[in-house]
Amino acid sequence: MNQRAEPLPQSPSSEEGRRRLEAVEREITEIGERAAQARRSLQRVCAEQVGAAEERDPNRLVWHGIVAFANSDPHDDVGFWKAATIYRLLLVLCEIRFPDLFHVMDPMESLSFRDLDYETRKGKTEGEALGRRAYDLHAQFKVMVAWLANPKACTAEQREQSLDFLLKHGEEWQVYSDMDVNQNFDKDGNNSGAPFYYWKSVSGYDTIMTPVARFILDRLERYHEGQLKLEEAVPIIRCRRTECGRFVVPRRTTREFCSNSCRTLYRQKAEPEAWATYMRDYRQKYYKKS
Ligand SMILES: [Zn+2]
Repeated sequence: MNQRAEPLPQSPSSEEGRRRLEAVEREITEIGERAAQARRSLQRVCAEQVGAAEERDPNRLVWHGIVAFANSDPHDDVGFWKAATIYRLLLVLCEIRFPDLFHVMDPMESLSFRDLDYETRKGKTEGEALGRRAYDLHAQFKVMVAWLANPKACTAEQREQSLDFLLKHGEEWQVYSDMDVNQNFDKDGNNSGAPFYYWKSVSGYDTIMTPVARFILDRLERYHEGQLKLEEAVPIIRCRRTECGRFVVPRRTTREFCSNSCRTLYRQKAEPEAWATYMRDYRQKYYKKS
C-alpha cells in the first residue's frame, strides 16, 4: 500500500503539484478497491448463508434470499431466529446489488425502517423487532412467491392478495429520501458543477419489505417491457412434488424439482409403471449377473 499523500505545501513547485495529484489519485483508487473488495466479501458471505455459495449474479442472489426466506418456517423458536437471519441477509443483498461503489452496504446500519422503529420503541431489541416483523409478513410473502413462481397454480384470490402485498410495501412513497441542495449548479455540467438543484439519496424505508417489494416490482416491470426474459426476471420455480413445495432458483430453466430426491420420489408415486420399467432397466444395466 502507498504512503498517505502529504498535504500540498503553501507555494508548491509544479513538480510537487504533479506528484501530489498522482499521490491523491493513488489514494482514491486504493480506497475504491478496498470498498469493492469489502462489497465482494459481504456478497460472498451472504451468498454462502442463503445456500448459493457459487452464485455471483447480484440479482439472482436476491432471488436466492427470497426463496430461502419463503422456504423458512418461523413457527417455532429455532425457525423464528433462522427466518430473521435470512431476512437480515436478504436486506443486505437487496442493497449491494446496486453497482455504485459507495452505495449503502448494510441497510440496517445506515437506513431507517419505520416498522422496526415502531417495534423497538415498544422495548424490543433490533433483532427481536426484525424477527417479529419477518414472522408477521412470512405467510403473505410465501403466497406471493408462489404466485411469482407459477401464477397459473394460484387461485384468483391468491393472485389478488399477492399483488396487493407487493403494492402495500413497494410503492415509491415508501422509500424515504434525503435531499441536499447542490451548491454548484451548472446547467451544462461543466466547470465541476452539476445540472441538478439538489442531490437525492435513500434514507430509509416504510417497512422491512419495501426494498424486497421494490426489487420484485422492478424485475416484473422489466419483464413486461421486454427488457428481460421471464426466466431472467423471475428465475424461480416451486418443486413439482406437492408434498415438498420448496422454492428454488434453478440453473436450468427446464428444471421442475428442488432436488434429485424429489424427482425420484415424484416419479415413484406419479408413474409407478414407468418407474418399475426404469428400475428394471437400471438393474439390468448395472447389476447384471456375471
Ligand atoms: Zn422438492
